[in-house]
Amino acid sequence: MEQFMTRYEDLKRSKKRTLRGYARDLALTGLSLSTSEKYLDKPRVQFLYLHHIFQDEEKRLDALMKKLAKQHQFISYSDAVEKILTGSIDKPYITFSSDDGFKNNLRAAEILNEYNARACFFINPGIVGETNFDKINRFCKEILDFPAVEFLNWDEVDKLQQWGHEIGSHTMMHMNIAKATAAEITDDMAQTYRVLTEKCGSMKHFAFPYGRFFHFSEVGRKAVFDAGFTTCATAERGCHTNPALPLTSKELCIRRDHTVLGWDMSHIMYFLINNAKHASVNNNLYPDTFK
Ligand SMILES: [Zn+2]
Repeated sequence: MEQFMTRYEDLKRSKKRTLRGYARDLALTGLSLSTSEKYLDKPRVQFLYLHHIFQDEEKRLDALMKKLAKQHQFISYSDAVEKILTGSIDKPYITFSSDDGFKNNLRAAEILNEYNARACFFINPGIVGETNFDKINRFCKEILDFPAVEFLNWDEVDKLQQWGHEIGSHTMMHMNIAKATAAEITDDMAQTYRVLTEKCGSMKHFAFPYGRFFHFSEVGRKAVFDAGFTTCATAERGCHTNPALPLTSKELCIRRDHTVLGWDMSHIMYFLINNAKHASVNNNLYPDTFK
């Protein structure tokens, strides 16, 4: 039967909970109790990466926004990048983003709007507006390792932009750049830059799929900027402080914290507090293996 997943509870049930998962939850609960939220007062830029916002996660996003608003100013993705590059981080800032372009991101955007917060949505043009269930199911299962969910269509992408959100590229069809050839990467970058510039008017931001350093390469990083993008994001945890030396957008390694709204709030906060506590100028740069 053709059925899209719409609830986080169903997703949790569909994924086997590993023993390691239990151990992590216990460790995080212990750590979060002993950690102080005062670290969040540290001037810095934190990028949050939300993935899915299922129906039963909407209230949690609202609660998280209320909590974050106490200590942070919400800024757009482009403004967050600018703050780092100009070394003008004078208080705690948070910006938001989301990858893969699930249709439920539209609800996330509506909730962010209520807090005057803006996000950058990294999309795969090859799946935007797809309505064939089998194709969606295959893409979700084989490429995202995720149950079938609906994707945004181009009208909805337009709507996000009208609301003041930004759109970025996540490759045409969620390419694992570490496993692709130089030619495949270059072609994909050029195509996604062209398609998204046509659809969205202009294009600046890129986030590579899967998000960990081992999913990326120096060839990939070069191709991102050669294609015309001006920023490149990971999904490696960490926050940003003013750089020690002048920094160009090509050198900036944007770190984003993957946040699942279904997690316990104390776990979400634990990661942010830990980032603030260990904030380092080195976070602004790619590791040496990328040079
Ligand atoms: Zn992705």
